[in-house]
Amino acid sequence: MSEDPRCCGTGTCIINDEGLCWCGQRWDGEKMCFPKAISAAVIGAGISGLSCATRLQAQGLQVQVFEKSRGASGRMSTRQTEETSADHGAQYFTARNPLFLKALHAWIQADVAAVWQPQLKVYEASQWRDSPSQERRYVGKPAMNSPGKFLAQNVSAHYSQTIDKVSRKNGKWQLHSAESGDLGASFDWLVLALPAPQALALLETSGEPLDTSTLQFQMKGCWTVMAEFNESLHLPFDAAFVNGEIISWVARNNSKPGRSGRETWTLHATPQWSQEWIELEKEEAAKRILECAQKLGFVAQPAKVSVHRWRYASGSLDPMPQFKVDENRKLGLCGDWLNGGRVEGAWLSGHQLAAEIQSVESALDKR
Ligand SMILES: Cc1cc2nc3c(=O)[nH]c(=O)nc-3n(C[C@H](O)[C@H](O)[C@H](O)COP(=O)(O)OP(=O)(O)OC[C@H]3O[C@@H](n4cnc5c(N)ncnc54)[C@H](O)[C@@H]3O)c2cc1C
Repeated sequence: MSEDPRCCGTGTCIINDEGLCWCGQRWDGEKMCFPKAISAAVIGAGISGLSCATRLQAQGLQVQVFEKSRGASGRMSTRQTEETSADHGAQYFTARNPLFLKALHAWIQADVAAVWQPQLKVYEASQWRDSPSQERRYVGKPAMNSPGKFLAQNVSAHYSQTIDKVSRKNGKWQLHSAESGDLGASFDWLVLALPAPQALALLETSGEPLDTSTLQFQMKGCWTVMAEFNESLHLPFDAAFVNGEIISWVARNNSKPGRSGRETWTLHATPQWSQEWIELEKEEAAKRILECAQKLGFVAQPAKVSVHRWRYASGSLDPMPQFKVDENRKLGLCGDWLNGGRVEGAWLSGHQLAAEIQSVESALDKR
């Protein structure tokens, strides 16, 4: 056996049909060698980027995540103040796909997610009614960003790194960040786990002749108000869907599992109203949303109000491609906008993209 040039040196080679020895070495046509590690840069530490990064890493790739914010989770976010915290992006998520249910089960085991059972109402034409929805709703615990933080602890993530230019040199991707300049390292794969307009803007810096038609997709904004109250509001609901007003959703953060602190409500304006008024001053947007909230029974003066403008809150391609891959350039796109516009779809988009990257690499290996 050791006479065979395909011997890995152990004298006990067992090379399978794919040219792989049990020791991990591969016959590359001329010699036995360890397959070189494939590297990937994932831009965006939202739930899609983190799900992609963790799976790529589990598949043996060397992965680094770059995120412009100070922490992980993207739109599954929580704003912390001295007195309380409020989920100001995603409010809850549902789970139907078996793969996502499996991941969710692990989050629940780790106590970073839990079922939320709000008293749920619907407001329409000045009337209240109970919501008929039987949907099982989940939230991050103790905050919506907890599952993201949980996933991020196992990957190499670089925060406060706004990637503002990507380029390709000698078949590898290179990154430039607004905070640190050229990042030095180069990567086999580039994964953009960003809302479509942000992915488009970044790809346009590459100078590559890419087909960006999918990325011309418009997403809608969302004005969000977080209102803290000194006392508990005696409203007969924990959350409500609102129809026919500029507000579409209100939720009592304290009704979610693991929350403490003073009573805080999150109020979301509708996508249509938010998009139409996206350039309003923050104070003016808050004033209009709080005026509308009075109709819903929010008559007490909030002790503190904060406002957030989501420029790219919602929207999804129809039909949903799940993810996109450019095999030749080793470029992948994932995110909610490619797969339904919600947390579950975002997670699945990243997860499936990682599997696709694996099959592209396996196919290249066999050539
Ligand atoms: C107000 C609101 C309410 C919502 N309500 C729900 C809900 O109730 N249920 C539900 O299922 N979903 C809801 N969603 C949608 C849900 O939050 C998203 O589907 C999901 O979180 C998207 O994850 P993502 O990874 O695709 O994108 P994101 O979470 O947006 O992640 C993208 C990440 O990329 C980072 N980034 C952007 N540009 C750069 C750059 N140049 N360099 C580095 N990093 C960059 C961002 O900071 C962000 O962390 C809501 C969203 C919003 C905004």
